[in-house]
Amino acid sequence: MNLWLKKQNLVNNYMNIIIFGPPGAGKGTQSDKIANKYKLFKISTGDLLRNEIKNGTLIGKKIEEIVNSGTLVSDNIINDLIEKVVSNNKYKNQIIFDGYPRNIQQAKNLNALLKKHEQKIDLVISLKVSLDLIIKRIAGRLVCSKCGNTFNEFFNPPANLTCCKGGTLKRRSDDNAEIAKKRYETYENSTKPLLEYYSKLGLLKNVGGENKIEEIEGKIADFINLIQGWLWKIWSYKYVN
Ligand code: AMP
Repeated sequence: MNLWLKKQNLVNNYMNIIIFGPPGAGKGTQSDKIANKYKLFKISTGDLLRNEIKNGTLIGKKIEEIVNSGTLVSDNIINDLIEKVVSNNKYKNQIIFDGYPRNIQQAKNLNALLKKHEQKIDLVISLKVSLDLIIKRIAGRLVCSKCGNTFNEFFNPPANLTCCKGGTLKRRSDDNAEIAKKRYETYENSTKPLLEYYSKLGLLKNVGGENKIEEIEGKIADFINLIQGWLWKIWSYKYVN
């Protein structure tokens, strides 16, 4: 393989990222875009949990009430779901974690799992959004039942009130102002302390989450490109010299 192709391979495929932010910060939208652009797999624990609920599994039955109340599902359940992902070679070093980890225990568990499977986190993005805007974003959020695309009644309305063929636009059962406040509180109390944890590791980058979707995407891409430049330098030093 020539050097350019090897570089493309490295640049496109080898990176694990975490995206943080309160509910409604745009984590899902941005991680979809980044996953697409850099050929990563988006792993959203919220989506994994909603799938368990939709499929009526044992886990799904246990967690439905908790998810709908805006509090956190137990670490054991989450850690088991994540272990299946991190131990799967298909995803190795190509993951963008959306909504995970949500507390210090989960972050420590993720560290240990990544180490066990010879991986690491390369970048942590934190999206900053005010509570007022979050409530508007959450109250207007619509999700396509078929492809999972998200829209917003106020800020990003779907053309003709439809998305893809066969899909219907639905509201998530935990998307209302009251539960949004509870989810925000949970974020402030349990998840926000993680920012300091990742900042101390030198991995954290803050991005304003109130700008236009494309501007936010551009800022995140700048950070990714920077890190990939470093990875490329390390790689070429190791293998070319
Ligand atoms: P999200 O789609 O990320 O907003 O998550 C929706 C809900 O799923 C949260 O309010 C929690 O109840 C639950 N959840 C998602 N991810 C986690 C996690 N990492 N740890 C615990 N609970 C979670």
